[in-house]
Amino acid sequence: MNHADGGTSSSEPETAYAWRDADWLVLHEKKAVLPRRCVVCDAPAAERPLKMSLAKPVSVAGFLVFGWFAFICSQGCSARVWLCDAHRAEERRQQLILRFLATAGALLLGGGLFCVLFLSGKGGMIFFLCGIVSIMLSPCVFLITACFAMARQRLVDTVNIDKPFVWLGGVAPDYLARFPEVPREQQ
Ligand SMILES: [Zn+2]
Repeated sequence: MNHADGGTSSSEPETAYAWRDADWLVLHEKKAVLPRRCVVCDAPAAERPLKMSLAKPVSVAGFLVFGWFAFICSQGCSARVWLCDAHRAEERRQQLILRFLATAGALLLGGGLFCVLFLSGKGGMIFFLCGIVSIMLSPCVFLITACFAMARQRLVDTVNIDKPFVWLGGVAPDYLARFPEVPREQQ
């Protein structure tokens, strides 16, 4: 016998630094080795894992009271997670919208300040007015960004973060069944 038939079982990736805790998946943010299956639907995964930023969602009340500090102070981390083509495309689409909105808000604020401080002296009133309008629009765009960040349908829920470990909810049950129970010491 030279080699085992098929060879699929030996290529099945092992899991490491990842466990099952009731309905949640616990993983080490940097060291976790996950099966090459979509974490959301257990379908075969795309070519490469996707870096997902995981943070406990900011509540509307928290945002109203603390504003941007609620986002800045919400403890987060990022982990590489395998997703199928469809879920990877969905997550990337949401990340792109968030990045686009945040960049647009920053450009409006920066461009507006530039117009008011540097161009209004040379070009006159029109630059000053454009700058003021641009500066006034930027908080609206930041607010829209915050609303999108709070309202977006996340593929997985970040239930808890206790660095370096992250607890994820909304994981496919078949996917979850591949992991060992969490050791008692981890809890
Ligand atoms: Zn999927």
